[in-house]
Amino acid sequence: MKTIVVLTVLLAAATLADAARKPNVIVILADDMGYADVGFNGCKDIPTPHIDSLAAHGVRCSSGYVSHSFCSPTRAGLMTGRYQQRFGHENNPAWLPEDTKVGLPVNQTTIADVMKSAGFVTGAIGKWHLGAAPCFHPNERGFVEYFGFLGGGHIYLPGLKGGVEYTVPLLRNKEPLELKEYMTDVLSREAAAFVARHKTEPFYLYVAYNAVHTPLQAPGKYLSRFTSIADERRRAYAAMTSAMDDGIGLILRALRDNGLERDTLVWFFSDNGGPPYNVSPTHNDPLRGNKGTLYEGGIRVPFVVQWRGELPEGTVYEQPVISLDVLPTAATLAGAKLPGGLKLDGVNIVPHLKGESKGPPHERLFWRTGGGAAWAVREGRYKLLKPGKDAALQLFDLNSDIGEAKDIVSEKPDVVARLQKAHDAWNTELIPPLFESPKPAAKKKARQAGRTK
Ligand code: CA
Repeated sequence: MKTIVVLTVLLAAATLADAARKPNVIVILADDMGYADVGFNGCKDIPTPHIDSLAAHGVRCSSGYVSHSFCSPTRAGLMTGRYQQRFGHENNPAWLPEDTKVGLPVNQTTIADVMKSAGFVTGAIGKWHLGAAPCFHPNERGFVEYFGFLGGGHIYLPGLKGGVEYTVPLLRNKEPLELKEYMTDVLSREAAAFVARHKTEPFYLYVAYNAVHTPLQAPGKYLSRFTSIADERRRAYAAMTSAMDDGIGLILRALRDNGLERDTLVWFFSDNGGPPYNVSPTHNDPLRGNKGTLYEGGIRVPFVVQWRGELPEGTVYEQPVISLDVLPTAATLAGAKLPGGLKLDGVNIVPHLKGESKGPPHERLFWRTGGGAAWAVREGRYKLLKPGKDAALQLFDLNSDIGEAKDIVSEKPDVVARLQKAHDAWNTELIPPLFESPKPAAKKKARQAGRTK
């Protein structure tokens, strides 16, 4: 009898301790990865066992979206849980370390601010791309620890050539460091070390690989895995992907070794779809379009969420979810108090992934690029799209036509009118872009010489 009482008390104490433990959150972001370049989406020539293990032990979101079709605006949305066009972050910031206007506006609350206020240790590793001036530094945006580079990309191997933005020193917080090894390996090791270092306290860790963005660079130890791929560029891309997958394996092992696997929600997705093959040798099939477009190939990405013991394992969730959902999900799990008046566009998706909430997380999702030159709305099975300036509207039924091959705009005038109206209402809540993306150097040179068409 006595034993039973003691056991009951112990069990109650254990339950209390479990209830008090808030799950860690890790967001692993790939850069410019194609929809079909991961095993769980059917990739055949590049094995990605560790990324696939997230899908095997978690939920694959087959309609997982990002809020923009290219780098920096997606990151601004992820960081704030808000459509980034609400605060004018609709383009890539130029590399301007003196410019305090070109970056994630400092009046925006970040996920790191929120998680820090809830008692989490916050860390960012890798590519930043949210402004190069001191006021935009991750340490000023809620991240207690930072290791990475502030621009939109970087060379991967010591000594290789590149522009200023791609060759700046690495930073540990604000301390410059030399790149001495393969970038992807360095970032992975830093991420695993962060996990081990903070195993006893709740943490939010943002791991933003520049892989598999160009330049296509990988050392022999990864290239040698892909001698069967004849196309040299695809071989390099495969090696980069494989290195990132190894790194993700290292991070997941750090969770297991430190007994944190069941206490950690892990997200993995790409910041946008794969670029056209001549820019980077990616595959987005069966999706149409690429990075930069609002066809599915620009915004629907490999997307998976793992939380062992909490989320169902090896399942597929088909309702649309979006990168904007990360902040509200993490904040809810952390019990964080959000600043008053903060309007979030994402939602906590855990009850949806668990099957407790049956309805879709979002009635509609919206996209806008170029200050409105292109836009799209997804509502249920339908997507209304204006693919570019002066382009005609297109309507697709994504349930029957994931490849957006059959424009049904003339068949469904009622749907077109409803989605157009929803877009117009959303659009009135946005502001014009605060800054423009840097123009490619060749174009700029030509323009300066007065030779642009
Ligand atoms: Ca990108």
